[in-house]
Amino acid sequence: MKKSILKTLQSTIQGDVFSQKEFREFYSVDASSYQIIPKIVVVPKNEKDVINTVKIAKKFKTSVTVRGAGTGLVGSALNNGIILEMKKFDSFKLAKDYVTVGTGTMKGRLDEKLEEYKKFFPPNPSIGSFCSVGGMLGNNSSGSRSLKYGSVIDNVIEITFIDGNGKKITLPKNKRVAKKILEFTKKIDEKKFPNVTKNSSGYRIDKVESIHDAHKVVIGSEGTLGIILSANLKIKDSPKKRILFIIEYKSIRDAIENCIEVNKTGPSAIEFVDRTILVQIKFKFDKNTKCLLFVEFDEKISLNEKKIKSIITGKIVKKLKKDTDISQWWKYRDSSLHYSLKSIKKEKRFPHIIEDAAVPLENLQKLFLALNKINKKYKTRSIVYGHAGNGNIHVHLISDRKIANIKNIAIQYFDEIIKLGGTITAEHGDGLARSEFIKKQYGVKNYQVFKEIKKFFDPKNVLNPGKIITTKSTIVKNLENF
Ligand SMILES: Cc1cc2nc3c(=O)[nH]c(=O)nc-3n(C[C@H](O)[C@H](O)[C@H](O)COP(=O)(O)OP(=O)(O)OC[C@H]3O[C@@H](n4cnc5c(N)ncnc54)[C@H](O)[C@@H]3O)c2cc1C
Repeated sequence: MKKSILKTLQSTIQGDVFSQKEFREFYSVDASSYQIIPKIVVVPKNEKDVINTVKIAKKFKTSVTVRGAGTGLVGSALNNGIILEMKKFDSFKLAKDYVTVGTGTMKGRLDEKLEEYKKFFPPNPSIGSFCSVGGMLGNNSSGSRSLKYGSVIDNVIEITFIDGNGKKITLPKNKRVAKKILEFTKKIDEKKFPNVTKNSSGYRIDKVESIHDAHKVVIGSEGTLGIILSANLKIKDSPKKRILFIIEYKSIRDAIENCIEVNKTGPSAIEFVDRTILVQIKFKFDKNTKCLLFVEFDEKISLNEKKIKSIITGKIVKKLKKDTDISQWWKYRDSSLHYSLKSIKKEKRFPHIIEDAAVPLENLQKLFLALNKINKKYKTRSIVYGHAGNGNIHVHLISDRKIANIKNIAIQYFDEIIKLGGTITAEHGDGLARSEFIKKQYGVKNYQVFKEIKKFFDPKNVLNPGKIITTKSTIVKNLENF
């Protein structure tokens, strides 16, 4: 008699295999608005388990979706086949200017370990310690300091992963595969790639300039090209000093205009929060304050202090130099998602869909205009905050949750963002919310190259199917509690 997939996994995998309802329900949600119940959850103990899971899934024609800490906002780690939970891959080995980490390592543990050596890994998502290295690689995550140091994709030297055939590949070391990736690069229409400093949409083949960059195509691929086991991450010396300015503005327009000039001074961060967020910060701002900029420098402190005072039109209400004060104010900024959800009644919360676009900085005013148009047309209101220096603004709509409006709003907003030379997602990935818009973002020619890349690594569509490459609309399907 033919053995079932569950029995086959149980008799092969050295780690754990679960099919009980409570486990499947736990892994059916993440920090997004979606829910999909998987059939089986596998917690691999070692590399061999990952390879065997992929091979068994392929044989039984089901899928494998790798999951980190499940803090993703667009359902990228949800699927209906096997969920692969990587928590046992939590190794750490330090070299001079890089660290080799297992992808199940939590960001908090990585930071703590690096701090012991006065080093840091620059990309710092606002979720802080609670995400995993695998999820950061999967989403090509970034954070406030990506303004100076780039996203994850700019800070990785090497990755080792298992592809959709169950083959182990190390890039860029594997010259055969690296050369093949470079061939894909030559086919792309570069003009159709967004002109932004951060981008987590589609496959970042535009980042592959030589075979030494070949690994970058897998970073940000949301587990659709490979299951990353470990990565060599670039690390930097922790800055000796930092200075953080909190600047209040009576108009959003003035704040955004200032971002362009401030950006030219080389800050480590320029972040924005609107009035809904700032009223929840424990500080008495002027009652007419509409928004704040958080501007941080981690070098040439006194020179930059002079420069910024001569540039800005807002009022500096805090100049912070002590590490504890700086951390406290970054906690306020990092709590923006929490503050915004707190201020919207549950039944008025719009799902995380148009929440992560970025445009060239000179077009940031126009992103706000695009949002105003949506608010007017659909009688919605919006809460906004984010990584203004990168032109990347997070949006929370307050609306009466009409399913038809969700898709129409997304279409209108993404069309405007693409027209402005922007990306529909700067750091959170495409997932269930945005994968169907990738063809629109990149055009037919580039989408065809993306399909060829997917076929090269995963010919049987075993790895996280329905994400990035898809013919289906998933934007309003599987929305939980709608
Ligand atoms: C309050 C809040 C604030 C946030 N702020 C930010 C922010 O500032 N910047 C930012 O970038 N993001 C932010 N996020 C989104 C999210 O937290 C990050 O993108 C995070 O890095 C995801 O990590 P994770 O471990 O939770 O990944 P998961 O959600 O588990 O997975 C994310 C994707 O990565 C893939 N993946 C996981 N492990 C691997 C692996 N080993 N190999 C290949 N692919 C893998 C998954 O399949 C999935 O597609 C925020 C989320 C919340 C809830």
